[in-house]
Amino acid sequence: QELENVEEKQSNLERQSTIGSRILVFVRLRPMGKREREVGSRCCVRIVNKRDLYLTEFATENDYLRLKRLRGRHFTFDASFPDSTSQQEVYSTTTAELVEAVLQGRNGSVFCYGATGAGKTYTMLGTVENPGVMVLAIKDLFNKIRQRSCDGNHVVHLSYLEVYNETVRDLLSPGRPLVLREDKQGIVAAGLTQYRAYSTDEVMALLQHGNQNRTTEPTRVNETSSRSHAILQVVVEYRVKDASNNVVNRVGKLSLIDLAGSERALATDQRTLRSLEGANINRSLLALSSCINALVEGKKHIPYRNSKLTQLLKDSLGGACNTVMIANISPSNLSFGETQNTLHWADRAKEIRTKTCDANEEIQQVPESETDQAKLLLELQKEN
Ligand code: ADP
Ligand code: MG
Repeated sequence: QELENVEEKQSNLERQSTIGSRILVFVRLRPMGKREREVGSRCCVRIVNKRDLYLTEFATENDYLRLKRLRGRHFTFDASFPDSTSQQEVYSTTTAELVEAVLQGRNGSVFCYGATGAGKTYTMLGTVENPGVMVLAIKDLFNKIRQRSCDGNHVVHLSYLEVYNETVRDLLSPGRPLVLREDKQGIVAAGLTQYRAYSTDEVMALLQHGNQNRTTEPTRVNETSSRSHAILQVVVEYRVKDASNNVVNRVGKLSLIDLAGSERALATDQRTLRSLEGANINRSLLALSSCINALVEGKKHIPYRNSKLTQLLKDSLGGACNTVMIANISPSNLSFGETQNTLHWADRAKEIRTKTCDANEEIQQVPESETDQAKLLLELQKEN
């Protein structure tokens, strides 16, 4: 019966992905940590194939052999990544297509969700030896631009911001809290620095610099846990000629989001200041869960306004955007409750429909002149 359920769920998932578009949901299991091993924790997650996983308290090899099947709750996702999955594979499966779409003037966003210590920052930013999705996406983007630089001149702008304690800050130019404003393109952070980027190396340096500005403070759960949500926005702009020889400006936006820990504030046993932060982090994540619920239930009113995070994610969740969620989980039975919670939300997020994502383009009033083109070409040559 277990197997039948698996098959049925799989076919549902396939059907959904062929009808219209929906948020793609991936789960990444991280390796057991040193401390988790030291205290003798057991693995409570078992990934049985590329898509299916079980959350079970009886997942040891012996139990598995004895029972010949797994007990516990079954989940199926667009992909379930075992702990041996490389950063490159996570990038290729989850984000590479979005980078391609952004180069065609479409919007995309990827967000990592999960408890503190589950592997969100590792997945998004990674380490120098094992760079994560943010870095691999930008590398790939520049490679693709280099390959097709004949069909237009691409300009790449970056901004990196955080939502901490319901305050929005510019990570590339810290110190001034930003105000959110609604304009033609949606919600924007007024005055956010837009860095024009020319190469991957430069971007790496910017990201590292930006990450040092992220608000991180010790909690009892994890000494370097981040209580902030970090959002990297990559805007690609370029001009092409359409069928009637008009010069068209295309803009694609990719948002890469490293969310704060989704655990309950209580679990970290914080004092007054910390519980205020906890409450606010919960407010943003609570608002995110209400938005997900409202979207799944097809409600008319989606409560984006309830938090800074949901205002910023408005186009990613309900707009014309290709959206990917990566749910990060620990294998340890000590994190059973958090993992259950993360998988619950990941399972719900699968049901969110997104609108068809057309290219954002605008016809330029004045056709591009020969001299302009020459100037751009020269600029491009200088860049390379
Ligand atoms: P989060 O950002 O969700 O709080 P981190 O990304 O900081 O969690 O991960 C916690 C720890 O686990 C870090 O030391 C990180 O290097 C390690 N880690 C996470 N995911 C992986 C992975 N897939 N492979 C190896 N180490 C990982
Ligand atoms: Mg983190």
